[in-house]
Amino acid sequence: MRIDIITVLPEIISGPLDHSIVKRARKKGLVEINIIHLRDFATDKHKNVDDYAFGGGAGMVMTIGPIFRAIEALKSERDYDEVIYMSPDGDKFDQKTANSLSLLKNIIILAGHYKGIDQRVRDYLITKEISIGDYVLSGGELPAAIVADAIVRLIPGVISDEQSALFDSFQDNLLAPPVYTRPAKFMGWNVPEILLTGNAPEIEKWRHKQAVKRTLENRPDLLEEDAE
Ligand code: SAM
Repeated sequence: MRIDIITVLPEIISGPLDHSIVKRARKKGLVEINIIHLRDFATDKHKNVDDYAFGGGAGMVMTIGPIFRAIEALKSERDYDEVIYMSPDGDKFDQKTANSLSLLKNIIILAGHYKGIDQRVRDYLITKEISIGDYVLSGGELPAAIVADAIVRLIPGVISDEQSALFDSFQDNLLAPPVYTRPAKFMGWNVPEILLTGNAPEIEKWRHKQAVKRTLENRPDLLEEDAE
């Protein structure tokens, strides 16, 4: 899979996507992540990518020209399944969306800034708009990195124990059960006995029960979704 992220602040994105599981996935060639600097597609000598809003008002708007040229340059090299714009008013990101995006071959993610982007980019160039939650950040870089991270861990072969992504929260609309590690006893706070028995089927049953319990307590809405 290939993820191309267009941004005016590459340094914010490169850090989060250069560690741990995502770094290993990139090294193994399971995903190619490219960070494209929008200013490289500006044509004036100051490399401007924003301008005042028509109609007035505070805040700058990202202009269509550099974004159009950046997307066209990428599209001239290969086909893209989605051109995604990170936006607080987009569809709320969830595990289901991460699962479906992880099946795609090539995607572009555009991170916005300032007051946002010229609406014509959204109308004519963007195929999907994603929000990471009902709050407003200063830029789309962290949202883009979050989406890329969530997608990458779902690509087959990325997580060494392939099972482990399947047992993450929200897969099958259940939260993950509690996990424990050594020491089994600490300050009198003990690990549940069942986990120390080595009885795999009984441990599995216990984990499932705990996952349902946790979901009922913390996110009963997920179980309702399941019933729909
Ligand atoms: N004026 C815009 C609004 O009220 O919807 C907010 C613009 S925000 C300051 C700048 C950029 O940050 C947006 O273009 C978007 O790319 C990104 N952004 C901010 N919050 C986000 C969120 N919750 N989800 C996804 N992207 C977000």
